[in-house]
Amino acid sequence: MSQNKYETPLLDQLESGPFPSFVTEIKRAAAKNDSANDLLGVLERCFKERKTHWKHGGIVGVRGYGGGVIGRYSDVPDDFPGVAHFHTVRVNQTSGFFYTSKALNEICDIWDKYGSGLTNFHGSTGDMILLGTKSDALEPLFAELSSRGWDLGGSGSCARTPSCCVGPGRCEWAMCDTLDINYDLTQAFQDELHRPMFPYKFKIKTAGCAADCIASVARADLSIVGTWKGNIQIDQAEVKKYADGGMDINAEVVGMCPTKCMSYDGNELKVDDPNCSRCMHCITKMTKALRPTGPFGATIMVGSKAPFVIGALLSHVIVPFMPLEPPYDNLKDLIQKMWDWWDEHGKNRERIGELIVRRGMREFLEACELDPIPQMVFEPRRDPFYFWKEDELN
Ligand code: SF4
Repeated sequence: MSQNKYETPLLDQLESGPFPSFVTEIKRAAAKNDSANDLLGVLERCFKERKTHWKHGGIVGVRGYGGGVIGRYSDVPDDFPGVAHFHTVRVNQTSGFFYTSKALNEICDIWDKYGSGLTNFHGSTGDMILLGTKSDALEPLFAELSSRGWDLGGSGSCARTPSCCVGPGRCEWAMCDTLDINYDLTQAFQDELHRPMFPYKFKIKTAGCAADCIASVARADLSIVGTWKGNIQIDQAEVKKYADGGMDINAEVVGMCPTKCMSYDGNELKVDDPNCSRCMHCITKMTKALRPTGPFGATIMVGSKAPFVIGALLSHVIVPFMPLEPPYDNLKDLIQKMWDWWDEHGKNRERIGELIVRRGMREFLEACELDPIPQMVFEPRRDPFYFWKEDELN
């Protein structure tokens, strides 16, 4: 093994940019690992020749699992043998990304033994991403990971590894137990996670409230967002302190309310609770003055995704309030109905949100045995997302 086997003038330039760790960390790993060293070499060549030297090389994986490993091969293996295979391994992360240092050291020690030593914490699905290993190291790597209680995450056309915000573990705003829901769904849907059987990927993300720190509304086919049913409790003395402290309550809070359900006359803040859409904006601005009250549960939303077949989509509300208590049978039952309909009608590589756009919200709701609600109107006074039937208009 040798440090800096390659001259890397182009990569070196990146180290003066906004994301220097991309190069710096590969250099650190290269000091003790041949694969990481050859990664530097092949990356420099890619930049120099302005073309990629990675190719799709077919399916790789571990016995019994259909997903969890993403095959990656170099098209110049003779020049860079250390990255001839450079497969990515997804390891199921803990709920809310809580780890002990012992657990992290264990993962890193295993990865130093079987892979490049390079990791990405975490991938956009949520998994721990172990970057770069060879085909013949996959089975022993998996055996060692699973013997210590770790498991692979999802990849391909399957339920992807569910993820959630830190929820009640650290946050006072959690209105559902994101950590337990996430763990429970991960256990319940092991088969769907490890054996790709769907038209395409399906992501589940759980946020404890509408502040949505995990961006579930933009990134998950199923967004579970904690919410409340009671009124917003107002401490007028604390409201006064915000005003005295210089906050322009009308501009920063009342004026930003999406449903215009708040008012402030300089003395008293009022909320018309039946018209509140529970977006959390006012609460996150005036944390000491405002507090949601129970009962607590979650809003269930469906359909977000990044651009692919059609453009980016955000999730839509399908259930405004669902009580969520273990064992979450009501939620699992709904998920199963969604999957059955998508599995029946989805085209290859069509996400569930795209299928809803193609076949209509009405058909989706009928399949899921849900009633239409006003929140399902896609754009007011234009094409409704939900088309009422003749007999529903009476
Ligand atoms: Fe807290 Fe809400 Fe963010 Fe979860 S989404 S961490 S509950 S503020």
